[in-house]
Amino acid sequence: MKRSVEGRFLRRLLKWFRGHRRSFPWRETTDPYRVFVAEFMLQRTGAQQVLPVYRNFIEQFPDLRRAAQADEDAIRRTLRPLGRVKRYKVLARALGLLAATSEGRVPRSLGRLLEIPGVGLYTARAVLVFAHGRRLGLFDPNIYRVISRVFGLSSSRPRAHTDPVMWSTVDRLIPRGMSREMNLALLDFAAAICRLKPRCPTCPMNDICDYYRRTGT
Ligand code: SF4
Repeated sequence: MKRSVEGRFLRRLLKWFRGHRRSFPWRETTDPYRVFVAEFMLQRTGAQQVLPVYRNFIEQFPDLRRAAQADEDAIRRTLRPLGRVKRYKVLARALGLLAATSEGRVPRSLGRLLEIPGVGLYTARAVLVFAHGRRLGLFDPNIYRVISRVFGLSSSRPRAHTDPVMWSTVDRLIPRGMSREMNLALLDFAAAICRLKPRCPTCPMNDICDYYRRTGT
């Protein structure tokens, strides 16, 4: 990636984000338990679909202790609108394990987070970024779409989110002290502008974007 393009991309992204930031309750907290619950629900599920489910869940189980004491059936009923039937079992196991270990706290280390059922690299990093402000990039197919289009990069792996080169590429994009803001900006930009069907003509990146230069669409 060219440093000059990278710098312009980051400056414009932050400027765009300040006028278009999406607001969700899990973005207004750094409580590790609430961040964990939100990130778990957001796995392969859109934020708007998660919103009422998250609100209801937090109302019923406002902290880890109460969530871990809940029976599986109560968690199943709360998660049912998400439509992924087996997920409640994994969440119930994860919450039970969290309450039983780490002194009832969500771990602060990547290795420990990855030991929790249902937690992959994205979710573990998201907890570290949004609850603990760690300087790490998040990388999923949406962020890959943005990065690959703007910088003309592509992963050598069929599943780019398993590519360590891509993870370190996105890590390098995160300025010191701005991990939370920059990751949210990337997520929102991918959702609003650089969508599957991109909105290039009105995009603030179009004069620096490799994809737009090549396709003009
Ligand atoms: Fe995405 Fe188009 Fe913007 Fe490039 S110009 S970042 S492809 S929306």
